[in-house]
Amino acid sequence: MDAVSDLQPVLHRIDDRVDDLVELTRDLIRFPTINPPGEAYQPCAEYIGKRLAKRGFAIEYVRAFDVPGDCDAYPRINMVARREGSRSGPCVHFNGHIDVVEVGAGWTVPPFDGLVKDGRVYGRGACDMKGGLASAIIAVEALIDTDPEYPGAIEISATVDEESGGFGGVAYLAERGWFSAPRVDHVIIPEPLNVDRVCIGHRGVWWAEIETKGRMAHGSMPFLGESAIRHMAAVLDRFEQKLYPKLAERISDMPVVPDGARQSTLNINSLHGGQAEGHDGLPAPCVADSCRMIIDRRFLIEESLDEVRSEITDILEDLVKSRPGFQFDIREMFAVEPSISDKNGPVAATTAAAIQEVLAVEPSFICSPGTYDQKHIDRIGKLKDCIAYGPGQLDLAHQPDEWVGIDDMVAAAKVMALTASRLLRRTA
Ligand SMILES: [Zn+2]
Repeated sequence: MDAVSDLQPVLHRIDDRVDDLVELTRDLIRFPTINPPGEAYQPCAEYIGKRLAKRGFAIEYVRAFDVPGDCDAYPRINMVARREGSRSGPCVHFNGHIDVVEVGAGWTVPPFDGLVKDGRVYGRGACDMKGGLASAIIAVEALIDTDPEYPGAIEISATVDEESGGFGGVAYLAERGWFSAPRVDHVIIPEPLNVDRVCIGHRGVWWAEIETKGRMAHGSMPFLGESAIRHMAAVLDRFEQKLYPKLAERISDMPVVPDGARQSTLNINSLHGGQAEGHDGLPAPCVADSCRMIIDRRFLIEESLDEVRSEITDILEDLVKSRPGFQFDIREMFAVEPSISDKNGPVAATTAAAIQEVLAVEPSFICSPGTYDQKHIDRIGKLKDCIAYGPGQLDLAHQPDEWVGIDDMVAAAKVMALTASRLLRRTA
């Protein structure tokens, strides 16, 4: 392993390029890549591709056809850039998603201008994760400048649809071998997880829609019908009395942050019963014949997906037996297993060592409360040596007045450059 002194030139190079890093971040923010529907993916991907082509990268654009949301108005365009080194060796890949979530209310700064103020760059996606992607690009460019004879290969990908599950992005590429050995050996995803933390995985997710059934009747004589909403209230009551206390008791050995997310959690995303909202005038009085609830269950590596499913269906089956007239349907919408990589593996350990050198702090290993594209690299690409590491505070993601600190981006770029340099010289 090189001593840090051998790598001083790359660190200095990054210090010299802070303005470029800030401008690149601002440029990325100015593409309003809101997902859904998937705005401005193509110009954003091409902007990054053109920049990297000038630095000797071979650029490929991969459109994900036949995935949710892909259409000619909103094509799912991914960019993959690869630059071969001077001799054979491992491939280090940096992957960033270019999509951002909707703007939402509460902003006091323009969301797509890339405003710079008090050492921060503001805008939707500044933190999650255009600041991280810009840091990775600057890290790699600085490495190429100061170490042009590097072995192996460097890849950077800019992918879409992470915020909606990654099916048109990393999952699509992983299914086609872009995230598997022997093409790629080590992956860093610069998601905003704070610059002194290495994220080695995430909890699992299970989304389902539960529908309770009723029978329509006149609202003045509800006893002649069967209220699906009251049946759903019984489901919620079971959740409150039985399920939530149980979930709160399950604490993971995974180092999930924040602390509250070390337990199993369940969010109720939405609840709709009876006649549809959104028409003018008074609704006709009817007993609700249907009530639908979407649940978002986050689970731990210690739980299995089957257990998570059956825990909910057991409650519903029990209500069928104990509550007269209770009928239900359940539809699975989305499932992701928890993912965790080895903290002593090459990418995690090398990144941790680089954090210690650049920031002079003890790095911590964490897991993310929500999933990100690591799931596809792990499950589909079968590539285990993957982490998330990048600038920005996780809490700011998806918030109004989202920002990323310039110092954080510089520090993360240095850590990524050191890490890449060492991984490229690593012999398996
Ligand atoms: Zn993200």
